[in-house]
Amino acid sequence: LSFEDLNLSPELLQGLYSEMKFEKPSKIQAATLPMIVTPPYKNLIAQAHNGSGKTTCFVLGMLSRVDPQLKAPQALCVCPTRELVIQNEEVVTRMGKYTGITTACTASAETSSHLYPSRREKIVDQIVIGTPGTLKRWMTKDKALDTRNIKILVFDEADQMLDQDGFQDDSIRLWRDIVRSGGKCQVLLFSATFSEKVKNFSLKTIPGANYIFV
Ligand code: AMP
Repeated sequence: LSFEDLNLSPELLQGLYSEMKFEKPSKIQAATLPMIVTPPYKNLIAQAHNGSGKTTCFVLGMLSRVDPQLKAPQALCVCPTRELVIQNEEVVTRMGKYTGITTACTASAETSSHLYPSRREKIVDQIVIGTPGTLKRWMTKDKALDTRNIKILVFDEADQMLDQDGFQDDSIRLWRDIVRSGGKCQVLLFSATFSEKVKNFSLKTIPGANYIFV
């Protein structure tokens, strides 16, 4: 498999080759990308070691599915820590450099105009990245995050979020609200580990999910 086989836009291929300097998909990318970026956009529970290139799987999923012309959130990436929010934002920005797609995050490495809480208004960025509690607040109390156009929902390090009690509530509620408010929403869970408990729970909760272990 090559990145060219995935029907990606020229702008995204340019991001992969000239900005990221990737030549070909890694093992986990070859195993999951066809299901993630081409119809019928499968739901996925994917387990792969850190350093295997799993970030690219869901970042490409988000970048390839959102419409840069639509000024509304269309992809949501939920992360257990601020550090991971910042890391993922950096990959989205670099890989999406030529796409015109923008992001809003619940945490930022530096003062950034994309960091929402400084401005009490609706989020117009296509991709939103954050920790569960803050995302939930943006959706409910602040009413800043409109989820009606969300068509891809990602949980990074899903095992951590679905296993801790507090997080599990926020994360699952997020998922239910989004799947209910929108039409068809693709759900991707990525993690280096999946406990039996979380794996079974996820398979039961996410309809038609494919489990992939690389
Ligand atoms: P990750 O597991 O997503 O944190 O990625 C680990 C490292 O591998 C990062 O530095 C990525 O930039 C790099 N990487 C991911 N995919 C590829 C690829 N297809 N070719 C070369 N390097 C990659």
